[in-house]
Amino acid sequence: MDRRGFDLIAFDGDDTLWHNERSFRDGRVRFRRLLADAGVDLSDEDVDARVSRFELANLERFGYGVTSFAMSLMETAIEATEGRISGGQVQQLIELAKRMMTEEIELFEGARDALDALHGIYPLMLITKGDLLHQTSKLERSGLGRYFTFVEVVSRKTPSVYETILNRHGVDPSRFLMIGNSLKSDVLPVVGAGGWAVHVPAALSWSHEHAEAPAHAPGRFFELTTLAELTRLVETLESAVKTARDA
Ligand SMILES: [Mg+2]
Repeated sequence: MDRRGFDLIAFDGDDTLWHNERSFRDGRVRFRRLLADAGVDLSDEDVDARVSRFELANLERFGYGVTSFAMSLMETAIEATEGRISGGQVQQLIELAKRMMTEEIELFEGARDALDALHGIYPLMLITKGDLLHQTSKLERSGLGRYFTFVEVVSRKTPSVYETILNRHGVDPSRFLMIGNSLKSDVLPVVGAGGWAVHVPAALSWSHEHAEAPAHAPGRFFELTTLAELTRLVETLESAVKTARDA
């Protein structure tokens, strides 16, 4: 008799295992100063609104990540300065993006312990959105790479993206658990695909990741304050998964 209820447990990376959003917030602050140096003094709110507009428009073509962010900053700067931004100032934006690519990785409380406790029992997968090179480099620099059997860097996190991953690995959704900070990317599509999900909200999350909690996912969706509580929850869920499966 198989003692495991889950065949695969997956984690989101950004703002679940390691800090990410605050790096983008810092980037926007530096960007505002750069605009001020270029003679355009905008409020934080105005900069946020302008950058967000370009980011949303760019998601479709450039996806998520620092490269896409940098393109959005350049477009915002061109618009805000009415084309007067100089080559030197564009270069500073590129330097800003390069710095973001190599920033130190800081883990969330309980992240390493949770992976350490679970990786001997379950195959673990990282499912993260963004630039392939940046995401794999973050994983490497985080020191968490050894806990993951599988790594999936995806362009978006929809139910069909999850279904494709699970199909490829021969995992039934009812035996799959996903942990992440985003209801929109890590919880709703997983529950929608028939899996289980744990939401660990981060203090800072990207506004585009906002969503309402699933209303019709009885017993398949859980919320934790910190990853330090995860191992105990997984132990509790084990019997629930088996009961659901045997029903
Ligand atoms: Mg995330």
